[in-house]
Amino acid sequence: MSNITMEKIVSLCKRRGFIFQSSEIYGGLKASYDYGPLGVELKRNIKDAWWRDMVHGREDIVGLDCSIIMHPDVWKASGHLAGFSDPLVDCRNCKERFRADKAPGAEPGATVTYAEGGKSGGKKLSGTVDPRGYVCPVCGSPDLSPERQFNLMFRTSLGPVDPLQQIADAAGELAALDSKSRMARLAEIVGQSAVYLRPETAQGMFVNFRNVLDSSRLKPPFGIAQVGKSYRNEITTSNLTFRTCEFEQMEMEFFCKPGTDEEWFAYWRDTRLEWYIRLGIHRDRLRLRDHEPSELAHYAKACSDVEYFFPFENVVGTGEWGELEGIANRTDYDLKKHSEYSGKELEYFDPDTQEHYTPYVIEPAAGADRAALAFLCDAYDEETVITPKGQEETRTVLRFHPRIAPIKAAVFPLVKRDGMPEKARAIIGTLLKEGINCFYDQSGAVGRRYRRMDEAGTPFCITVDSQTLTDDTVTIRDRDTMAQERVPAGGLGEILKQRIWGEK
Ligand code: ATP
Repeated sequence: MSNITMEKIVSLCKRRGFIFQSSEIYGGLKASYDYGPLGVELKRNIKDAWWRDMVHGREDIVGLDCSIIMHPDVWKASGHLAGFSDPLVDCRNCKERFRADKAPGAEPGATVTYAEGGKSGGKKLSGTVDPRGYVCPVCGSPDLSPERQFNLMFRTSLGPVDPLQQIADAAGELAALDSKSRMARLAEIVGQSAVYLRPETAQGMFVNFRNVLDSSRLKPPFGIAQVGKSYRNEITTSNLTFRTCEFEQMEMEFFCKPGTDEEWFAYWRDTRLEWYIRLGIHRDRLRLRDHEPSELAHYAKACSDVEYFFPFENVVGTGEWGELEGIANRTDYDLKKHSEYSGKELEYFDPDTQEHYTPYVIEPAAGADRAALAFLCDAYDEETVITPKGQEETRTVLRFHPRIAPIKAAVFPLVKRDGMPEKARAIIGTLLKEGINCFYDQSGAVGRRYRRMDEAGTPFCITVDSQTLTDDTVTIRDRDTMAQERVPAGGLGEILKQRIWGEK
């Protein structure tokens, strides 16, 4: 971990086509990113692994794909309209605006020093940390504004109405009102056509609970899973894709009988932590963190986060635990709220026991972008190797688990003649038909080609050489050990599939 910095990750991401700044040619857009050719494969493999393990690999979970824009009453019932907000604070020293609950902690009453204006050459100032117990994440100053709540939902309007036109038409009426009544009237005007980009995928599962129950033969305990985009107008965005305004979630709502919820919560907490470990994340860089009672959402009975130790830098040093996934016991809160607001029955009737009950929900909610960032940071490694000419060289390698590696195998002809390129192309053709994402490369020395694939995280490199032309064998070079073995070309597909997905 010691040699990993975010600077190196960001540079590798751009150089190798994992992640680009969005709209870069126009100067970029704050906290918006695009996934390049390697990044899109990485994220897709993570989502596929999640779907495979959470839906296809089980009998008790089904999938769903909901609209991003839902009926606005969904967000009234869920509490998001009234309460989905973060505490916002302004730093009076460097003018940064940030989330109080994510700011670096500092002992109340302690004296801290910081640079005037947050500038590196700025005059040294000192101040006392107030009872809130945190400082500005950018400059470390304790000179902060009071906290105010900021709703994170993105609002837009639906239908052939232009809220701006409506406001312009009401200008006279609005001008006559005092400021509080004016805001209320404006909210009313805007509210007539307002809809929201979903801030989480979970509500789609709750509002479709009855549809899924009636159309499938499932009965509790069962789950509904969804992978899709969510949107939050985040105040503080930083550290590449860790916190962005548009992101993808992988969420599952598991409906179970009240009384069995604690058991299921423990099951899902352990299962989800195991998932990251099975896909190759270092165990010592992962932890499960149970929420303190004061931290719990008012409806949640328990919540535990799977956290990863990211190489983020902040005013207190390098390395920070960041949430990858939250596992929550949401009780029967959501179904009861939607039942109350919609007037529809959202209970389950158990024909065996003749009992009616509202299921409790255990929710493992993960982020695909944060997972991709964690897999990237965790896979990153540098090691010193000796070149064939006896020189020392730094090898940058992404040690992805083969299942999530963007390119599974590269195929090289050792030289560009004697029929080797044709043979290599024929091998690629066969592997691609078998669903193995491969890459062909014939340019430069084979050692350079290996290095390029190491940086892309490709676990296997296959080389066609002169022996191939006589006995139809090829070498497979392992990314991590750099060892080579010779195998029959005809058996490559099976060998690779076993090594990539063998433990599916
Ligand atoms: P945080 O406390 O970091 O804001 P959260 O607890 O609000 O996260 P949840 O609502 O539990 O997050 O969402 C589930 C998952 O969705 C998170 O664990 C994370 O992986 C992902 N996620 C949430 N917000 C963002 C974001 N702004 N950018 C990227 N991923 C996000």
